[in-house]
Amino acid sequence: MSTVFEKIIAGEIPADILHHDDLVTAFRDIDPRAPTHIVIVPNRAIPTVNDATADDEPALGRMFTVARTLAARDGIAEGGYRLIVNCNKDGGQEVFHVHMHLLGGRALGPILARPG
Ligand code: AMP
Repeated sequence: MSTVFEKIIAGEIPADILHHDDLVTAFRDIDPRAPTHIVIVPNRAIPTVNDATADDEPALGRMFTVARTLAARDGIAEGGYRLIVNCNKDGGQEVFHVHMHLLGGRALGPILARPG
């Protein structure tokens, strides 16, 4: 069964698409957690990072260079930003198509709350 991200890549459901090339697609998150919240996905549907292979390295690398380009375009490169990739249940992954979150536009604080 295809995920919502495959449908966005295929143009079957609307999204605010910022970038699309032969390897990756980027669009604004529908439920932004920061002034800039962009999702960057490989066009090939890799369910989780655990499923990534050496063949995916060009797309996974492209995700970083697209992230830096979009961060600059949104004016957050100098101030800084966070890139997050969640994997499986404990990682908080909800959409099972590998994706990178690009978050910024405000001070994001420490990476995680300390336990306890
Ligand atoms: P994750 O928890 O890492 O799997 O993140 C999934 C992200 O996808 C969440 O931040 C959602 O808000 C986002 N999302 C889900 N559906 C859509 C959609 N149709 N368009 C844009 N972002 C979406």
